[in-house]
Amino acid sequence: MYSNITLPGLEGVIVTKSYQKEGVYHLHVELERQPHSCPDCHQMTQKVHDYRMQKIQHTQAFGRDTHLFYRKRRYICEEATCQKRFYEDNTLVARYQRQSVEFNQALSIELIHAKNFKDVADRFGTSPTTVMRRFDTICASKLNETKELPKVIAIDEYKGDAGGEKYQTIIADPIRRKPIEILKDRKKETLKDYLRQHGQGVEVVVMDMSPSFKAAVDQSLGRPIIVADRFHFCRYIYWALEQVRRHVQHSFDAYDRKKCKRMRHVFYKHQEKLTDKQHWYLEHYLHKSDYLERAYQLKEGYRKWFEIAKACGQEGLGEIKDTLYRFYDLVKASGVVEFERAISTFQNWQKEILNSFAFDLHNGYVEGINNQTKVIKRNAFGFGRFDRFRLKVLLHHQYKDVKIRIA
Ligand SMILES: [Zn+2]
Repeated sequence: MYSNITLPGLEGVIVTKSYQKEGVYHLHVELERQPHSCPDCHQMTQKVHDYRMQKIQHTQAFGRDTHLFYRKRRYICEEATCQKRFYEDNTLVARYQRQSVEFNQALSIELIHAKNFKDVADRFGTSPTTVMRRFDTICASKLNETKELPKVIAIDEYKGDAGGEKYQTIIADPIRRKPIEILKDRKKETLKDYLRQHGQGVEVVVMDMSPSFKAAVDQSLGRPIIVADRFHFCRYIYWALEQVRRHVQHSFDAYDRKKCKRMRHVFYKHQEKLTDKQHWYLEHYLHKSDYLERAYQLKEGYRKWFEIAKACGQEGLGEIKDTLYRFYDLVKASGVVEFERAISTFQNWQKEILNSFAFDLHNGYVEGINNQTKVIKRNAFGFGRFDRFRLKVLLHHQYKDVKIRIA
């Protein structure tokens, strides 16, 4: 019987018989007889020596498991002194495999996108440990490893909880917004080794304000331009206000103390975005403490500087710097020690902070990558192993736009 439909992975294959047996599709297949070149003496031959039947697991068809019975032809070399016997070329199944090429291909794509191994195992009619092993072998070969880092990279801490380390280091491409590499921990030596091997073309590095990352970059990359990440330096200001609030609310009565804690978001939200009710609470607490009021005004002052700086960009660096100095003066005049500490960090990283506006680069998207990781971790077992975890995160992003799915 010749089928007039072609199943995926069976293009150019002759189906000689098809039937169902115990709910499984059985397809008997063979290839057309063709001249082959002898692998030993390169003489052409079409002479068939014999056939072997090979059973192969294939992708499901119409919701059923499918087994191929491949009548695999062996040719014999006609050169009298050679007589070599060899199997025909085929794209159906790789050597020593019991699954078809198409099956492995579909399984890899599923494994890259799927949130856990168990679902995939069920869909492919196999066990979670089998698909996990498949993941380790097939998927590893699908990852494009980055040998040379691009000119602009981002370095950030990454809470992956894998391989016995709570934190990993992520190297990302801030322009294409994708992860490039995940390092097993956040130690200086690990990052240094990696950058030495792959970072010789790096010119700009965006990073959080970790002294250990900075030292690793300085010691391995010569002198690239370092850009402090916005989210990270802004956080020092918000932390300072947070410290003041916590400290001040101790002196409130029990009711206000609890309520102030619960309403703490009113201090951080942009003033113009507060609802009437939120505004009322803000005023209420600010009236209770002059120190808190001063801290709050500094935060608002900072926010204004930040908005100006963003709008100015590269051409306005002089103005950005002047307004930053005015902010430092305000802090010094205020006597709020928590803010004085924050600006001393700013002064240490001032060049890198100003670079953030000169280059308009940041790590905001890493947060998004982090959130996706949480989903992977919640849904899957088996990703506690660092190599597997790394592979999953990198592949997921590499194949984000490949949406081929089999059902
Ligand atoms: Zn031969």
